[in-house]
Amino acid sequence: MNIIIFGPPGAGKGTQSKYIVNKFNLYQLSTGEFLRKEIKNKSDLGVKISSIVNSGALVSDDIVSKLIESIISQDKYKNRVIFDGYPRSIVQAKNLELLLKKYNQKIDIVIKLSVKLDTIKKRISGRSVCSLCGKIYNDFYNPAPINSDCCSSKFLHKRGDDNIDVAVKRFETYEKTTEPVLDFYKKLNLLKVVNGESRIDQIYEEISEIIGVIEGWLCIISPYKYVFKH
Ligand SMILES: [Zn+2]
Repeated sequence: MNIIIFGPPGAGKGTQSKYIVNKFNLYQLSTGEFLRKEIKNKSDLGVKISSIVNSGALVSDDIVSKLIESIISQDKYKNRVIFDGYPRSIVQAKNLELLLKKYNQKIDIVIKLSVKLDTIKKRISGRSVCSLCGKIYNDFYNPAPINSDCCSSKFLHKRGDDNIDVAVKRFETYEKTTEPVLDFYKKLNLLKVVNGESRIDQIYEEISEIIGVIEGWLCIISPYKYVFKH
Protein backbone atom coordinates (compact mmCIF):
# COMPACT_ATOMS: atom_id res chain seq x y z
CA MET A 1 0.00 0.00 0.00
CA ASN A 2 1.41 3.37 -1.06
CA ILE A 3 -0.13 6.53 0.32
CA ILE A 4 0.20 10.22 -0.36
CA ILE A 5 -0.66 12.65 2.38
CA PHE A 6 -1.45 16.29 1.64
CA GLY A 7 -2.04 19.13 4.02
CA PRO A 8 -1.04 22.77 4.41
CA PRO A 9 1.89 23.61 6.69
CA GLY A 10 0.56 23.54 10.23
CA ALA A 11 -2.19 21.01 9.50
CA GLY A 12 -0.54 18.32 11.61
CA LYS A 13 0.55 16.26 8.65
CA GLY A 14 3.86 15.34 10.30
CA THR A 15 2.18 14.11 13.48
CA GLN A 16 -0.37 12.03 11.62
CA SER A 17 2.24 10.58 9.28
CA LYS A 18 4.30 9.37 12.24
CA TYR A 19 1.31 7.60 13.78
CA ILE A 20 0.33 5.96 10.50
CA VAL A 21 3.88 4.87 9.79
CA ASN A 22 3.98 3.09 13.14
CA LYS A 23 0.57 1.52 12.96
CA PHE A 24 0.73 0.25 9.40
CA ASN A 25 4.46 -0.42 9.28
CA LEU A 26 5.10 2.02 6.47
CA TYR A 27 8.06 4.09 5.43
CA GLN A 28 7.69 7.86 5.31
CA LEU A 29 9.31 9.40 2.28
CA SER A 30 9.72 13.09 2.89
CA THR A 31 11.57 14.42 -0.13
CA GLY A 32 12.92 17.46 1.74
CA GLU A 33 14.37 15.29 4.48
CA PHE A 34 15.71 12.87 1.94
CA LEU A 35 17.50 15.60 0.01
CA ARG A 36 19.08 16.89 3.22
CA LYS A 37 20.22 13.38 4.12
CA GLU A 38 21.89 12.87 0.76
CA ILE A 39 23.70 16.19 1.15
CA LYS A 40 24.84 15.27 4.65
CA ASN A 41 26.07 11.83 3.56
CA LYS A 42 27.97 13.45 0.67
CA SER A 43 26.79 10.77 -1.75
CA ASP A 44 27.37 11.38 -5.47
CA LEU A 45 23.83 12.64 -5.74
CA GLY A 46 24.24 14.62 -2.51
CA VAL A 47 27.27 16.48 -3.85
CA LYS A 48 25.34 17.30 -7.01
CA ILE A 49 22.37 18.48 -5.00
CA SER A 50 24.41 20.73 -2.71
CA SER A 51 26.04 22.48 -5.67
CA ILE A 52 22.56 23.13 -7.11
CA VAL A 53 21.16 24.35 -3.82
CA ASN A 54 24.24 26.51 -3.15
CA SER A 55 23.86 28.18 -6.53
CA GLY A 56 20.36 29.20 -5.46
CA ALA A 57 18.61 27.02 -8.03
CA LEU A 58 15.80 24.56 -7.31
CA VAL A 59 16.44 20.85 -7.37
CA SER A 60 15.04 19.55 -10.64
CA ASP A 61 12.21 17.04 -11.00
CA ASP A 62 14.74 14.72 -12.54
CA ILE A 63 16.87 14.55 -9.42
CA VAL A 64 13.89 14.15 -7.10
CA SER A 65 12.70 11.35 -9.38
CA LYS A 66 16.03 9.58 -9.03
CA LEU A 67 15.80 9.85 -5.26
CA ILE A 68 12.32 8.40 -5.22
CA GLU A 69 13.28 5.62 -7.57
CA SER A 70 16.20 4.69 -5.35
CA ILE A 71 13.68 4.09 -2.54
CA ILE A 72 10.73 2.46 -4.25
CA SER A 73 12.97 0.07 -6.18
CA GLN A 74 14.13 -1.50 -2.90
CA ASP A 75 12.23 -4.55 -1.78
CA LYS A 76 12.00 -3.46 1.83
CA TYR A 77 10.10 -0.31 0.85
CA LYS A 78 7.97 -1.90 -1.84
CA ASN A 79 4.31 -0.98 -1.39
CA ARG A 80 5.08 0.53 1.97
CA VAL A 81 5.67 4.18 1.24
CA ILE A 82 3.84 7.19 2.52
CA PHE A 83 4.73 10.19 0.36
CA ASP A 84 4.96 13.45 2.23
CA GLY A 85 5.54 16.70 0.38
CA TYR A 86 5.47 15.03 -3.00
CA PRO A 87 4.17 15.32 -5.71
CA ARG A 88 3.81 19.09 -5.88
CA SER A 89 2.86 19.41 -9.51
CA ILE A 90 0.98 17.51 -12.20
CA VAL A 91 4.27 16.73 -13.91
CA GLN A 92 5.58 15.17 -10.70
CA ALA A 93 2.32 13.29 -10.13
CA LYS A 94 2.39 11.77 -13.62
CA ASN A 95 6.03 10.98 -13.20
CA LEU A 96 5.34 9.21 -9.92
CA GLU A 97 2.66 7.10 -11.61
CA LEU A 98 5.19 5.97 -14.22
CA LEU A 99 7.90 5.29 -11.66
CA LEU A 100 5.60 3.18 -9.50
CA LYS A 101 4.31 1.31 -12.53
CA LYS A 102 7.88 0.45 -13.49
CA TYR A 103 8.19 -1.40 -10.19
CA ASN A 104 4.69 -2.91 -10.30
CA GLN A 105 3.28 -0.55 -7.75
CA LYS A 106 0.72 2.20 -7.54
CA ILE A 107 -0.74 4.81 -5.26
CA ASP A 108 -3.59 3.25 -3.29
CA ILE A 109 -4.95 6.30 -1.54
CA VAL A 110 -4.41 10.04 -1.36
CA ILE A 111 -5.36 11.69 1.90
CA LYS A 112 -5.93 15.41 2.15
CA LEU A 113 -5.95 16.97 5.59
CA SER A 114 -8.27 19.89 5.19
CA VAL A 115 -7.69 22.84 7.51
CA LYS A 116 -8.88 26.44 7.22
CA LEU A 117 -6.33 29.22 7.15
CA ASP A 118 -8.01 30.80 10.16
CA THR A 119 -7.40 27.67 12.22
CA ILE A 120 -3.76 27.56 11.26
CA LYS A 121 -3.42 31.21 12.25
CA LYS A 122 -4.93 30.43 15.65
CA ARG A 123 -2.68 27.43 16.12
CA ILE A 124 0.37 29.58 15.51
CA SER A 125 -0.67 32.82 17.19
CA GLY A 126 -2.02 31.03 20.26
CA ARG A 127 1.01 28.84 20.77
CA SER A 128 3.34 29.44 23.68
CA VAL A 129 6.16 27.44 25.22
CA CYS A 130 7.10 27.35 28.91
CA SER A 131 10.77 28.22 29.16
CA LEU A 132 11.11 26.24 32.39
CA CYS A 133 9.59 22.86 31.58
CA GLY A 134 9.23 23.04 27.80
CA LYS A 135 5.48 22.31 27.79
CA ILE A 136 3.59 23.68 24.79
CA TYR A 137 0.24 25.41 25.21
CA ASN A 138 -2.30 27.12 23.03
CA ASP A 139 -4.56 29.98 24.15
CA PHE A 140 -7.38 28.67 21.97
CA TYR A 141 -7.08 24.91 22.28
CA ASN A 142 -5.01 24.06 25.31
CA PRO A 143 -4.49 27.04 27.64
CA ALA A 144 -1.82 26.99 30.34
CA PRO A 145 -3.06 26.31 33.90
CA ILE A 146 -4.01 29.51 35.72
CA ASN A 147 -2.35 28.90 39.09
CA SER A 148 0.85 27.25 38.11
CA ASP A 149 4.24 28.18 39.51
CA CYS A 150 6.02 26.79 36.52
CA CYS A 151 3.94 27.59 33.47
CA SER A 152 2.93 31.10 34.50
CA SER A 153 2.85 34.01 32.08
CA LYS A 154 6.33 34.98 33.29
CA PHE A 155 7.80 31.88 31.70
CA LEU A 156 5.50 31.45 28.72
CA HIS A 157 7.04 32.56 25.46
CA LYS A 158 5.23 33.31 22.25
CA ARG A 159 6.61 33.38 18.78
CA GLY A 160 6.53 36.63 16.86
CA ASP A 161 3.85 37.82 14.44
CA ASP A 162 6.19 37.34 11.51
CA ASN A 163 5.54 33.63 11.92
CA ILE A 164 1.91 34.22 11.03
CA ASP A 165 2.80 36.16 7.88
CA VAL A 166 5.12 33.36 6.84
CA ALA A 167 2.39 30.80 7.58
CA VAL A 168 -0.17 32.72 5.51
CA LYS A 169 2.24 32.88 2.56
CA ARG A 170 3.05 29.20 2.84
CA PHE A 171 -0.64 28.33 3.06
CA GLU A 172 -1.45 30.33 -0.07
CA THR A 173 1.43 28.79 -1.98
CA TYR A 174 0.33 25.36 -0.83
CA GLU A 175 -3.25 25.91 -1.99
CA LYS A 176 -2.17 27.25 -5.35
CA THR A 177 0.29 24.48 -6.11
CA THR A 178 -1.52 21.46 -4.71
CA GLU A 179 -5.04 22.20 -5.97
CA PRO A 180 -4.33 20.88 -9.50
CA VAL A 181 -2.51 17.86 -8.07
CA LEU A 182 -5.46 17.01 -5.83
CA ASP A 183 -7.70 17.31 -8.84
CA PHE A 184 -5.51 14.84 -10.68
CA TYR A 185 -6.01 12.24 -7.93
CA LYS A 186 -9.69 13.04 -7.59
CA LYS A 187 -10.16 12.07 -11.22
CA LEU A 188 -8.40 8.79 -10.47
CA ASN A 189 -10.86 8.22 -7.60
CA LEU A 190 -8.07 8.13 -5.06
CA LEU A 191 -8.73 11.26 -3.07
CA LYS A 192 -10.10 11.18 0.49
CA VAL A 193 -10.57 14.43 2.34
CA VAL A 194 -10.16 14.27 6.12
CA ASN A 195 -11.29 17.09 8.37
CA GLY A 196 -8.06 18.38 9.87
CA GLU A 197 -9.98 20.66 12.24
CA SER A 198 -10.82 17.75 14.54
CA ARG A 199 -8.77 16.63 17.52
CA ILE A 200 -5.51 14.85 16.73
CA ASP A 201 -6.82 11.47 17.95
CA GLN A 202 -10.04 11.85 15.96
CA ILE A 203 -8.11 12.63 12.79
CA TYR A 204 -5.87 9.67 13.43
CA GLU A 205 -8.86 7.41 13.90
CA GLU A 206 -10.43 8.57 10.66
CA ILE A 207 -7.23 8.09 8.67
CA SER A 208 -6.64 4.67 10.24
CA GLU A 209 -10.11 3.61 9.20
CA ILE A 210 -9.55 4.70 5.59
CA ILE A 211 -6.23 2.87 5.41
CA GLY A 212 -7.64 -0.14 7.25
CA VAL A 213 -10.32 -0.57 4.62
CA ILE A 214 -7.76 -0.48 1.83
CA GLU A 215 -5.46 -2.81 3.69
CA GLY A 216 -8.36 -5.24 4.01
CA TRP A 217 -8.95 -5.05 0.30
CA LEU A 218 -5.34 -5.62 -0.57
CA CYS A 219 -5.19 -8.65 1.69
CA ILE A 220 -8.20 -10.18 -0.05
CA ILE A 221 -6.82 -9.55 -3.52
CA SER A 222 -3.34 -10.88 -2.82
CA PRO A 223 -3.01 -12.15 0.75
CA TYR A 224 0.59 -13.32 0.46
CA LYS A 225 1.92 -10.12 -0.97
CA TYR A 226 0.68 -7.87 1.77
CA VAL A 227 1.60 -8.84 5.26
CA PHE A 228 1.28 -5.99 7.68
CA LYS A 229 2.66 -5.94 11.19
CA HIS A 230 0.66 -4.28 13.92
ZN1 LIG B 1 6.25 25.01 32.79
